[in-house]
Amino acid sequence: MKKISIILSMIFLLTGCNAPSNDSDKIEIYTTFYVMSEFARVIGGDHVVVTQLLSDGGDAHNYEPTSQNIANVATGDLFIYNSDQLEHYAQDIIESSGNDRLKVVMAAQGIELIQNDHGLDPHTWLSLKNAKIELKNILDAYCEIDNDNADYYQSNYDEYVQELEDLDKSYEQGLAPFVNREIVVEHEAFAYLCADYGIVQKSVTGITSEGEATANQIKSAVDYINSEQIKVIFYQEELNEKVMQTIAQETRTELLPLSTIASLSSEDVAAGSDYLSVMRQNLENIVYALDQIN
Ligand SMILES: [Zn+2]
Repeated sequence: MKKISIILSMIFLLTGCNAPSNDSDKIEIYTTFYVMSEFARVIGGDHVVVTQLLSDGGDAHNYEPTSQNIANVATGDLFIYNSDQLEHYAQDIIESSGNDRLKVVMAAQGIELIQNDHGLDPHTWLSLKNAKIELKNILDAYCEIDNDNADYYQSNYDEYVQELEDLDKSYEQGLAPFVNREIVVEHEAFAYLCADYGIVQKSVTGITSEGEATANQIKSAVDYINSEQIKVIFYQEELNEKVMQTIAQETRTELLPLSTIASLSSEDVAAGSDYLSVMRQNLENIVYALDQIN
């Protein structure tokens, strides 16, 4: 990240190091992608100002921080990211920011990461149980920075966690009738969700969302769908739908979305989408798919 350091030195030369943070008493927070921003906001409420570094709808896998991102973090109070497995650029941002008073939360701290063929799986937030751990890590940071409002943060946390737990129960109940719990997805992002409920995911392209499926990957997916008599397969809105459309046509399966929530856009949010609503929709779609093969 030499380039970033050079750009950053230029910014400091132009603006002066350690620009004073604004006089607002709100905690100034920088987050990486959508889920981190939502978690930061629901607990922080009106005591925090949350700025997301990834552009609207941006892909958390294939992101490179800009000099503006680093300049922002240089004046912030708190930086929240999911894990070094996903935001491999996080440590560079933190170091390049030169912000000595910056607190950092790695939200996935304390979560046991799942090992797969490619390494450690970064998609921890897609488990409702893990989400609770991530929220607790954020809560603890807020209480440390702004202990006067600890009760406020705690009650926001309690309220949100209650909703997570209710939804977790809905998953248990919704999936209970199904013995066969196989799903076919494009990008291998749902291991933590699958682990919670004994679902088996077969992915077409593997763990990163980079790159299109190869002919071999498509053929292997088609063979699997045919042999397992899968009736519904899942695409991700942020990826190229064509690959899954091709597979759906070839296997005469139905195509439904399954979202990682990572790149929810402000348009989606304005239309009422958030972490819980998308996780609810994911449940509905999984239940629909499993119903066809049980
Ligand atoms: Zn992903």
